[in-house]
Amino acid sequence: MKRRDLLKAASATAGALAVSPLVARAQRVSDVGSRKTDVLVIGGGTAGCIAALQAARAGARTTLIEMGSQLGGTTTTGGVDFPGLFHAWGKQVIAGIGWEMVQEAVRLDGGRMPDFSRPPRAHMQHQVRINGPLYAALVEEACLLAGVSLGYYQFPLSATATEDGWSLEIVGKGLRYSIVCQQLIDCTGGADIVGLAGFSRMREETTQPGTLIFRLGGYNIDDLDADEIQRRFLQALADGELEHSDTRGPRRFVGFLAGGGVNAQHVWDADSSTADSQTQANIAGRRSVLRLIRFIRSLPGCERAQVQRMMQETAVRETYRIVGQATITHDDYTSGRHFDDAVCHSFYPIDLHDRGGVVPKPLTPGTVPTVPLGALVPRGSRHLLVAGRSVSSDRLANSALRVQASCMAMGQAAGAAAALAIQNATTPAAVDRNELHELLRQHNAIVPG
Ligand SMILES: Cc1cc2nc3c(=O)[nH]c(=O)nc-3n(C[C@H](O)[C@H](O)[C@H](O)COP(=O)(O)OP(=O)(O)OC[C@H]3O[C@@H](n4cnc5c(N)ncnc54)[C@H](O)[C@@H]3O)c2cc1C
Repeated sequence: MKRRDLLKAASATAGALAVSPLVARAQRVSDVGSRKTDVLVIGGGTAGCIAALQAARAGARTTLIEMGSQLGGTTTTGGVDFPGLFHAWGKQVIAGIGWEMVQEAVRLDGGRMPDFSRPPRAHMQHQVRINGPLYAALVEEACLLAGVSLGYYQFPLSATATEDGWSLEIVGKGLRYSIVCQQLIDCTGGADIVGLAGFSRMREETTQPGTLIFRLGGYNIDDLDADEIQRRFLQALADGELEHSDTRGPRRFVGFLAGGGVNAQHVWDADSSTADSQTQANIAGRRSVLRLIRFIRSLPGCERAQVQRMMQETAVRETYRIVGQATITHDDYTSGRHFDDAVCHSFYPIDLHDRGGVVPKPLTPGTVPTVPLGALVPRGSRHLLVAGRSVSSDRLANSALRVQASCMAMGQAAGAAAALAIQNATTPAAVDRNELHELLRQHNAIVPG
């Protein structure tokens, strides 16, 4: 079948949850009964869409539920469209389905890959610039082609263990239904489903700040009087016209302008774990951008400054992590511990953002950490996995594990483990290691060792 026909057929499957217009007129919330799937992935973000793609490509009937309007999560809706790191010390350590999608996004956008052949001066130089909305469209297309059934604007209300899987109650705009699955993968970024199901999660008392990603323009940096601008900036901070978090504290403001402000603002206490807390984070982020643009337009040479881009929500770095069968510690990460049940690599400096800003601590040359399957399995659970930033880890290890290439690799590993568990009528934690590695390699992942 041609790609066009495949997509037509796949879109029809994705829309299968819709009700007939007659029923919709009669009921405000349509109960669309119960549904069945093999693998259910909740959260279609950085890790979730890769988990769903892997499970479906391995032959499992897969459903992906996302509460937002598109796939990609923090990579797309959060505007963090510079995933990293796929390479370490001059060679590739993470590949597979995430890398395939990133490459395709760069190609279709006429972009360029960094030169990965040697370690960069700053790790950011090896992050790949992608077009977020295009990436979202591409992963959606790939999911439909793989047969993933997609449901946007939906989220679970409950998750109950059954004898051989899970039953979830899902609500969404204008609908409500129950769904049973054999394997459940929580890719919500905050282990929401693990919490709903009653397993232990952990979080810090004070979490890292969030950021509302935006980009400034409309001024010529070479025409600006840097000293005068710095004087006005410090005055604005002293007067309360600007807040320290708007620019991550006192700095050379002309440097902030040169970078267009991208990823240079902190929203304290940003928390995506409830609708109320995310609402507060979004409001705080937008108020910060308004303070900045009002101030910047008052500067000489910046009278025509513009907010050229601003995401629709504040991206959050940290909420809940699971308490897993295994927990990755800072020592494990920085020593490059090779876990017996390693399923993928992770590679990034320790990168904790706090009130003082962020000072990344690079790994020692040659170190490439690994992620064990046990860190994706909530302790005491069966038929349940997580992938993404809520991986079981201590705080410092998590500050590096949470980055996108690592999340994609964890997503692929979780999708493969779920699909194999179904094939072999077992739990993900008990799947045969060699079989799991073999399946991942078939789908172009790099498996440690
Ligand atoms: C400001 C900022 C800068 C960063 N900088 C970098 C960087 O430079 N390089 C890098 O690689 N990484 C960076 N990161 C880290 C990285 O982007 C994230 O940690 C990673 O994308 C998280 O992936 P995830 O799949 O765990 O969660 P997400 O991508 O956030 O996906 C979670 C998805 O689940 C959905 N969801 C949540 N709850 C529910 C629910 N109950 N029901 C249904 N759907 C739900 C959400 O809508 C979302 O789509 C940054 C993060 C932030 C916030």
